[in-house]
Amino acid sequence: LGERLGAIFDRLANRGRLNESDVAEVLREVRVALLEADVALPVAKEFVNRIKEKAVGSDVLTSLTPAQSVVKIVYDELVELMGGAAARLTYSDAPPTVYLMVGLQGSGKTTHAGKLALRLKEQGRRTLLVAADVYRPAAIDQLKTLGRQIDLPVFDESQGDPVKIARDGVAEAKRLGIPTVIIDTAGRLQIDDRLMVELEQIKAAVKPIEILFVADAMTGQEAVNVAKTFNERLGITGVILTKMDGDARGGAALSIHRMTGAPIKFVGVGEKVTALEAFYPDRLAQRILGMGDVLTLIEKTQSVYSEQQAEDLAKKLRKSQFTLDDFLDQLRQVRKMGSMNDIMKMIPGLSKALPNVQIDEKDVSKTEAIICSMTRRERERPEILNGSRRKRIALGSGTQVSDVNKLVKQFEASRQMMKQLGGMKKGRFPKFPMP
Ligand code: GDP
Ligand code: MG
Repeated sequence: LGERLGAIFDRLANRGRLNESDVAEVLREVRVALLEADVALPVAKEFVNRIKEKAVGSDVLTSLTPAQSVVKIVYDELVELMGGAAARLTYSDAPPTVYLMVGLQGSGKTTHAGKLALRLKEQGRRTLLVAADVYRPAAIDQLKTLGRQIDLPVFDESQGDPVKIARDGVAEAKRLGIPTVIIDTAGRLQIDDRLMVELEQIKAAVKPIEILFVADAMTGQEAVNVAKTFNERLGITGVILTKMDGDARGGAALSIHRMTGAPIKFVGVGEKVTALEAFYPDRLAQRILGMGDVLTLIEKTQSVYSEQQAEDLAKKLRKSQFTLDDFLDQLRQVRKMGSMNDIMKMIPGLSKALPNVQIDEKDVSKTEAIICSMTRRERERPEILNGSRRKRIALGSGTQVSDVNKLVKQFEASRQMMKQLGGMKKGRFPKFPMP
């Protein structure tokens, strides 16, 4: 979706002043791009209409930078469409706080019960995981394995009655003084009435403060339809959109809030138990519009970096004093955080500048070696790297001059992007054209 919209706006940018038919044409293309990304038809229609209204009512046609005005409108509407502000989990005044995970089979309920429990644990709240998916013995084992992995207790009564298990689980948490309960439930491949009735009974028995609908983003529109049904029957309070690390086209994220009224609270970005991110509508809107997701990157960094380090980094990004030393530092930190490819996706422009580049750990070591062979001054001011310096560095690091060239180019590109983003952080929209 990002690419499609990016291309549309790029063309717009070259056009200078716009007339009404230009705007109409752009909106038509935006609509097609949304539909191709699996956005539900009524949502896409409404979205385009709102943009049209806003564009007509604003100074788009008379503006000197019409493209920028249109992008700004689209950005604001995207954020609005996805729920505006970031939504948080609700806690109960009368512990334990009970969360019920619901959704189709394979959507990621069990995995995300574990991810959520781990996140709460990191915030100092212990969780009792309750295994109320009794139809597949493997489901209970899966939850137990997760529990061991994150060192949290799992309550199960093997193949008993799920409603009773849920109730007993909550009672057990009360007895043990555990403040949070996450109930993992069964799913079906398709919505069926027995499943819904069972979930309604569990809801009545344990009165969860949140019913979290777990949706597989890869299933696109289907996820949205299923969410609607679950919402009608159970009243969901939030959505966890999973498998956003795959090649999901993102349409579900754009439709699901509008179709259910429930906010997306988290996104799952991998199979690992740490692969969970809070959902920020503004950041996804930025990513869709091709601005990368430096804020998420900085937040990720924060959990590894000290706060002071992260603040310094943000300051450097703003002032574009980002040096190769910082780059190296980041690469090393990043390696602690998980897959390099995921991280690179968040750096604005990088995935566009280097399409189809798969980063493997060997490349990272190479980069490390190259930067380590540079002098202080060279790291701070890579622009002084002339031919003979590059040769020396290649020799010193056991690489080729072409490797050194590639690295410098890559660094310059990301520094350029960060400079544009730096402007945005202070509240301005980045200069058009975007990365
Ligand atoms: P459940 O049937 O709803 O409980 O789904 P599971 O939690 O068992 O997940 C089904 C499959 O999807 C498992 O193989 C998970 O590892 C995988 N999975 C879950 N969440 C994610 C995610 O965010 N990203 C990726 N890539 N895989 C996921
Ligand atoms: Mg499961």
